[in-house]
Amino acid sequence: MNIYFLGTGTSQGIPIIGSTHPVCKSTDYKDKRLRVSLWISWEDHSYVIDCGPDFRQQMLASDCQKVDGILFTHEHSDHTAGLDDIRPFNFRQGEMPIYAHERVIENLKKRFDYVFETENRYPGAPSVKTIEVINNVPFVLADKTVTPINALHGDLQVFGYRIDNFAYLTDVKTVAPEEVEKLKNLDVLVLNALRIDPHNTHFNLQEALDFIALVKPKKTYLTHISHLLGFHEEVQKQLPENVFLAYDNLTITL
Ligand SMILES: [Zn+2]
Repeated sequence: MNIYFLGTGTSQGIPIIGSTHPVCKSTDYKDKRLRVSLWISWEDHSYVIDCGPDFRQQMLASDCQKVDGILFTHEHSDHTAGLDDIRPFNFRQGEMPIYAHERVIENLKKRFDYVFETENRYPGAPSVKTIEVINNVPFVLADKTVTPINALHGDLQVFGYRIDNFAYLTDVKTVAPEEVEKLKNLDVLVLNALRIDPHNTHFNLQEALDFIALVKPKKTYLTHISHLLGFHEEVQKQLPENVFLAYDNLTITL
């Protein structure tokens, strides 16, 4: 299984528009972060988790030729705003399967009403096939089983996803013990770590490290990073063994 980090930034991306913060001004390519998204592929199967406002740019940068489905973690714009740009895949492949919590599907129907229009559809509008993700109900992607991981982003429910010994959890602040149980024996965990200071709805670095100590994956890659976490190179040096800052276009193979 190949894991490709399409974007590793928090909601505004890095650099932030108009910012003079040193991290936003950094010339290190690892300090430039598009909105958070992940591409997972194995054999001839290809899935993307979340579809934010940088989706088009990410598909071009990664040279992703085919997407068999999009899994959504939650409805916030930095995870959904790119849905219109699935059209090239629609034209080549037909309807795009999208996997999400029922609440997220309802939210997408409001944000992208024209996508779900059944009468007088604009020819060329994006087309999707919705598949509801239900907590505690694993589902199948091609020949793999996906376990949804239920978590809280402040007060908002979000889904993380486990596939084999890989798991992706972003925009998480609280994870109940029964969900932690679903994350045992991971080879790779991808986990959000926003910044040094605490935040109401996201793990800060210390909370992420505490969660890693609890789950004990073999390796962890941190994502959904703000410029306030600091320079990639400096933060990476301070991390424990087997904990890494992800960066855009990083690829790992499991
Ligand atoms: Zn987010």
